[in-house]
Amino acid sequence: MRIGVIALQGDFAEHIAVLSRCGVDALPVRLPSQLDELDGIVIPGGESTTLNRLMAEYSLIEPLRELVCQGLPVWGTCAGMVLLAKKVTSSANGSLGIMNIEVERNAFGRQTDSFESELSIPALGDRSFPGVFVRAPIIRAVGAGVEILCQLRGGAIVAARQENRLVCSFHPELTDDLRFHNYFLSLDRGDAFTKDSY
Ligand code: GLN
Repeated sequence: MRIGVIALQGDFAEHIAVLSRCGVDALPVRLPSQLDELDGIVIPGGESTTLNRLMAEYSLIEPLRELVCQGLPVWGTCAGMVLLAKKVTSSANGSLGIMNIEVERNAFGRQTDSFESELSIPALGDRSFPGVFVRAPIIRAVGAGVEILCQLRGGAIVAARQENRLVCSFHPELTDDLRFHNYFLSLDRGDAFTKDSY
């Protein structure tokens, strides 16, 4: 299995290390040609405005959107989630805009820049998952076809899936727990969908 990780900014090296521990070939992606023949693609955490700009400069936006619409599994963590969102509250919309969610950036404010929380994620089993949040966004609203995978005790949605598209607010790549990465690797290629139907 070959999984690409967008490697322009942010914590792509950590994702590559964890994916390697999961036993797959994990490749850094910087050029459109490196998107060919992948079984999945990860958009890491970082700074979404910078990531947006760099992905546009490297001409990755259109080919990536096309591949995901053809069924390629994609996983956006933190800033990566912002890029996938169809709507971003009080900011420019996600540049890929291919997941039916509305996201608010930096939703925990300056007071709680970073924190850790044990998360209940039924799709990963009974044992709690270590959630590492760093200037994290949250999902304010989900639309048709989106399954909520995790909510904080106060109700904030922090992980969701829509067919071949997976997002989370937190950073599984900064933990030793491989379950979220393995969950991504278990996603089927979705059926192709048209851009009008998300
Ligand atoms: N606050 C960042 C943003 O909106 C995301 C932070 C992260 O990826 N750790 O882009």
